[in-house]
Amino acid sequence: ESVIVAIDGPSGTGKSSTSKAVAAKLGLSYLDTGAQYRAITWWMISNGVDVHDTEAVANAASKPVIVSGTDPARPTITVDGADASGPIRTEEVTSKVSAVSAVPEVRALITELQRTIARGAETGIVVEGRDIGTTVLPDADLKIFLTASPEARAARRSGELKGADVTATKEALVKRDAADSSRKTSPLAKADDAVEVDTTELTLDQVIECVVTLVDE
Ligand code: C5P
Repeated sequence: ESVIVAIDGPSGTGKSSTSKAVAAKLGLSYLDTGAQYRAITWWMISNGVDVHDTEAVANAASKPVIVSGTDPARPTITVDGADASGPIRTEEVTSKVSAVSAVPEVRALITELQRTIARGAETGIVVEGRDIGTTVLPDADLKIFLTASPEARAARRSGELKGADVTATKEALVKRDAADSSRKTSPLAKADDAVEVDTTELTLDQVIECVVTLVDE
């Protein structure tokens, strides 16, 4: 039967790398829910919607068609049929996504999309995000909450961004996590029944091993 794994936590904790690797090892599908919020944010920017105008964002929320490919070896995301995998990683999208993802109408639509994808995954799925264990899939078979020190998270993110300034990266990360944690609708939070894994002193392989072991238990 199918198994559902929810992996939540702030940015820079290794969520994406861990989730993809666990899904690949176990033959499960993979869903990056952050990419969906980034995709809707990219659409808002491209269509001239002011991301700080809550009403305008709410009114436009149902317009873009967002499709996620769930193969962990080659995850994809399209908006209205166009490949969005590059554009959703820009600094502009990263700095605006928290404002868009805080709008309740946006969350309602994306959450529904996530549940449909999870229900349709035949062997099961690893879903990574901020509110998967608490809100999107509260009945998940296993819930993981990844953490790491702000220094470790900023260092990893700067590494990914190839030499970006660590101090600036850390400030941006802390600011985004604060916004994601303080919004009213399904904030970044650890579910009561989630297993917390502090990755600060662990290698990626160790984190993957740890999660795979927990799924097998
Ligand atoms: O994981 P990633 O950094 O790509 O997520 C981008 C943003 O999407 C987060 O900062 C957050 O604002 C939003 N997000 C969310 N709920 C999720 C996943 C992501 O609000 N489940």
